[in-house]
Amino acid sequence: MQNRITKLFKIQYPIIQAGMIWCSGWELASAVSNAGGLGIIGAGSMYPDILLDHIKKCKAATDKPFAVNLPLLYPSIEEHIQTIFDEGVKIVFTSAGNPATYTSILKEKGITVVHVIANEKFARKAESCGADAIVAEGFEAGGHNGREETTTMCLIPQIVNAVKIPVIAAGGIGTGRSMLAAMSLGAEGVQMGSRFVLSEESSAHQNFKEAVLQSSDGSTELSLKQLTPVRLLKNKFYEAVKQAEINCASKEELQQLLGRGRAKKGMFEGDLEDGELEIGQISGYLKNIKPAAEIIKEIVAEYNFALNELEGKRL
Ligand code: NDP
Ligand code: NDP
Repeated sequence: MQNRITKLFKIQYPIIQAGMIWCSGWELASAVSNAGGLGIIGAGSMYPDILLDHIKKCKAATDKPFAVNLPLLYPSIEEHIQTIFDEGVKIVFTSAGNPATYTSILKEKGITVVHVIANEKFARKAESCGADAIVAEGFEAGGHNGREETTTMCLIPQIVNAVKIPVIAAGGIGTGRSMLAAMSLGAEGVQMGSRFVLSEESSAHQNFKEAVLQSSDGSTELSLKQLTPVRLLKNKFYEAVKQAEINCASKEELQQLLGRGRAKKGMFEGDLEDGELEIGQISGYLKNIKPAAEIIKEIVAEYNFALNELEGKRL
């Protein structure tokens, strides 16, 4: 398949692996890129020297295009941007913040910039700031999420209608069938997080992977809406947040309960009780851990199978 997204990134399939804190380092990113998708290093949880190391290793492991995800609220963002320039990274996905601040600085260096949004207002803003494409992320997505709770099914056609640049759909997509659904809504690519957490190359702790494998529908919930909304796998920490919210905890009290480094504790160190476990709704449907290349092969095969099946249902 060739479309604006495969051409923009110079990739074989319009399948993008989400930049995920603690889960997507160079090993996963290079494996996805080598398999014909676009791999992304999640820089949000990396100190600047660690990001540098991951970029260098990714470049050594693949000669295919890869990207870095830069959450715009990252504390040492200027250092990350310098590393991206120094290492000649060609594609950057920005998220969690205002695209007005850095899009033009990145574009001046010839970098392809994609911005993550969860509503129409931010989509228009990203386009007007010069983003080359948009990731529109619906309510089903894991981790940090929009406050509006717009589902992928409703969000994608709305965003496709609102902007001229290509739209990559995210949130609830983890199979070839869901990829086909997103493409039929007008998306030109898909971004998948949870599916790649359950890959052999993801840096998620094995305990976290096993917990995700055990999950079913209803195992996640968008939590901490007063602070920064985040979809969590239900565990002891999630229950503590829920109880605090029932007790009308203030923002400050919730911040205190969250503390620092919860996501690392849960997803990277494997503390399933007290850690923050960020995963999407689709996790309830995913039942195996595979190498990233096999995941991509399976998605492409299922996509083509489902497309043929649909042909037979033509009205
Ligand atoms: P705010 O939500 O107050 O945002 C600060 C400013 O940035 C606002 O003026 C807003 O613009 C703009 N802005 C925020 N997010 C976006 C966006 N996605 N696209 C375009 N403009 C944006 O505070 P924070 O900076 O602390 O938080 C940023 C937001 O990102 C939070 O809503 C958070 O839930 C979300 N988030 C998203 C993640 C992701 O994308 N994966 C990860 C982590 C957090 P305006 O004035 O036009 O409203
Ligand atoms: P916390 O504030 O709770 O903790 C910061 C964590 O980030 C620590 O575990 C720390 O590692 C690590 N870290 C890496 N670089 C730095 C740095 N320069 N300064 C301070 N800490 C650093 O944040 P979270 O764990 O909830 O989130 C980490 C980051 O990821 C935030 O910037 C957040 O906005 C972003 N994020 C982005 C998402 C996305 O868009 N894909 C999704 C979720 C979060 P150590 O413990 O080793 O000190």
